[in-house]
Amino acid sequence: MLNLTYEFKLKPTSEQVFIFTDWLEQCRRVYNHALTERKDWFKSRSCQINACSLRSEYTIPAETKRPTYASQCKSLTANRKTNSNLQRVQSQVLQQTLLRLEKAFVSMWEQKHGFPRFKKPGTMRSFVFPQLRKNVVQGSTIKLPMVGWVKFRQSREIPDGATLRQVRIVRRARGWFAMLTLQWDVIIPDVMPHGEGIGVDVGISHFAVASNGRFFPNPQPFKKLERKLKLLQRSVSRKVKGSSNRKKTQVKVSKLHERIANVRKNYHWLVAHNLCDLARMIFLEDLNLKRLARGFLGKHCLDAGWGQFFQILEQCCRKRGVFFLYVDSKKTSQICPNCLTETGKKELSERVHSCQYCGYTTDRDVAAAQVVLIRGLAAVGHTVKMLSEGKAVALPLTKESPGF
Ligand SMILES: [Zn+2]
Repeated sequence: MLNLTYEFKLKPTSEQVFIFTDWLEQCRRVYNHALTERKDWFKSRSCQINACSLRSEYTIPAETKRPTYASQCKSLTANRKTNSNLQRVQSQVLQQTLLRLEKAFVSMWEQKHGFPRFKKPGTMRSFVFPQLRKNVVQGSTIKLPMVGWVKFRQSREIPDGATLRQVRIVRRARGWFAMLTLQWDVIIPDVMPHGEGIGVDVGISHFAVASNGRFFPNPQPFKKLERKLKLLQRSVSRKVKGSSNRKKTQVKVSKLHERIANVRKNYHWLVAHNLCDLARMIFLEDLNLKRLARGFLGKHCLDAGWGQFFQILEQCCRKRGVFFLYVDSKKTSQICPNCLTETGKKELSERVHSCQYCGYTTDRDVAAAQVVLIRGLAAVGHTVKMLSEGKAVALPLTKESPGF
């Protein structure tokens, strides 16, 4: 089973834009209403037995069950019978909004994300049609339930044999977009470990470094765009609130944000393809992104958008038949890739790895990438003949292979 998302720019009529905008607002209200219900329930339960009731009034009867996706869907259906605002929106679209809230709660419980927040006007940017009939796409038009035929700019062919699973309608600064999730019933064979491998280290002074010494710098145009963004944002804050000048500049800011995101994504694909050119196996350190982003490196991590890069690299490898594996990232910068001895912690300013035991000297990030490579090769059952000119050669596993 293969899922892919195709994105098209819509060319809606002004009536259709009106409908989309209205639906987003109705979805936002449903979201906020459901969130209120859940929040109130949690508040009423968080009251300690011995605490006084002045601060947290016990307003919800004790036997009331915690609101769930299912229970909220039920009350939504009941409300929709009498509420004309809700009737204008397809019921499945509204249910998906509730599902989105449910997911926000699940990621709070499971991934320690924050408590879901209320959505301010204009901040609900997308809604989903979870189910569509066959043949809703014809030429460069798509038939959306209750909306009718909407034209789009067909920037790429939709392949035959794919089933349309869902459509997400997204509002961006540059207009309305449709994200089509397509599914193929094909079995993609897993790529088996083969050929030459490289390890990849991601960092702050460089975007990424490969174990053979290839550097991928942080993209330069980026800094320029970010400076421009800062200037624009400052000019927004100087303009009178609610004025049309402020709104115009705000639109410019959002467009620039999108442009930066696009440039970043392109760069990620570029690096991914370059890495795939280098080897048939790619090993990447399994950074705990969340932990890093919270720590002192926070802003840098999120700026670099590593989460997206990792996903893109994985996707790119699969497309091109390159084996991909995450390996343990523990202490990659504290081990000598040549003699495998722990050489101790390096300061961030220390740019060179120079082993006090075997004398091996190389760039600090290259050394880390080489450790990643060794671990990766060990994980797929290869041992390594160590490194001349920054290359590792995979050998069949022997008894004396390093115990990583
Ligand atoms: Zn050494």
